[in-house]
Amino acid sequence: MMKKVLVMLEAKAGNVRGVSLEALTAAQRIAQGGEIIAVFFGSDAANYAEITGKYGASKLYVVENKALDTYTTDGYFQAMRQVMEATEPEGIFIPHTAIGKDLAPRLAARFGLGLVSDVTDVQLVVGDVVFTRPIYSGKAFEKKKVASGIPFATIRPNNIPAVESGSSIEVVPFEVEIKDLRTTVKEVVRKTTGGVDLSEAKVVIAGGRGVKSSEGFVPLQELADVLGGAVGASRGACDADYCDYSLQIGQTGKVVTPDLYIACGISGAIQHLAGMSNSKIIVAINKDPEAPIFQVADYGIVGDLFEVVPLLTEEFKKVLVNS
Ligand code: FAD
Repeated sequence: MMKKVLVMLEAKAGNVRGVSLEALTAAQRIAQGGEIIAVFFGSDAANYAEITGKYGASKLYVVENKALDTYTTDGYFQAMRQVMEATEPEGIFIPHTAIGKDLAPRLAARFGLGLVSDVTDVQLVVGDVVFTRPIYSGKAFEKKKVASGIPFATIRPNNIPAVESGSSIEVVPFEVEIKDLRTTVKEVVRKTTGGVDLSEAKVVIAGGRGVKSSEGFVPLQELADVLGGAVGASRGACDADYCDYSLQIGQTGKVVTPDLYIACGISGAIQHLAGMSNSKIIVAINKDPEAPIFQVADYGIVGDLFEVVPLLTEEFKKVLVNS
């Protein structure tokens, strides 16, 4: 049994990110009734106590410090180092987000820990913590055990279903000293998106070069709105300037694992598959019956996306309104 697991949480636009709750669930699995300590940074950290307790943490370290309102590697590293030294955890989980990917390796190097990154499953097998993670761009999975030191991992969004457990939580205000920051964030300019975060969306409607223009993305957005999903894209569509690069899915873009992925006018290049092939259900709409995307699709529709997508939107509207 693991006695103490530390989980770093993240919020976005005032809400705890789904992957934070998934990381808490991963911690529950290995803590087996031991103590789960959550930590939040920034000046609104105390707002998240209730939900953090609901998902299994027994303590929330609230690290309220203006210097941590926006992420910097230096600032978060100093803060997390002090939390780790104070709590002496026997396991650490961090979300595999832009922040987690940047921060975790630095902490691992500082503390001399082995880091298992981009973890999609965590199990306790005969007392050993066993991590599953994708390799070769998602074509295979490997299982890893930590041979020495404590288990330290980043958790990929949308893979470990978040499970509620527990209810009472102790809030621990924790002061950190942040000094000599080498970077300061002057301004954060956010792209306006449709609301649903692409990396955590349960439904993704992705468009490729077959969408043919930025206006071509409109029917995809309509379908996404009906299904409560997010719009994504292939690099082909981004390179052609039909949409912003923040939508790019694939080896050099975002990795998504939604319940439903609908690829519209995407050929299915290996670099694109690297970002979506672990989606639970894949639907492909393509004019070309030989398009490689059909090899990974659970359902294939050979046809013109400009006819098929509006039809799907209409049908989903009917079904969802009647249900
Ligand atoms: P295309 O390959 O041109 O396919 C368009 C498809 O649309 C075709 O299959 C066509 O039949 C279909 N189509 C056309 N009109 C219609 C219609 N009206 N209705 C239905 N179907 C239609 N790509 C990524 O996506 N993500 C990455 O992260 C990425 N990283 C890369 C990294 C490297 C180092 C390299 C070399 C490449 C990378 N690529 C990446 C690019 C990748 O190799 C492909 O070029 C790209 O994915 C192709 O995009 P596409 O499928 O939209 O375009």
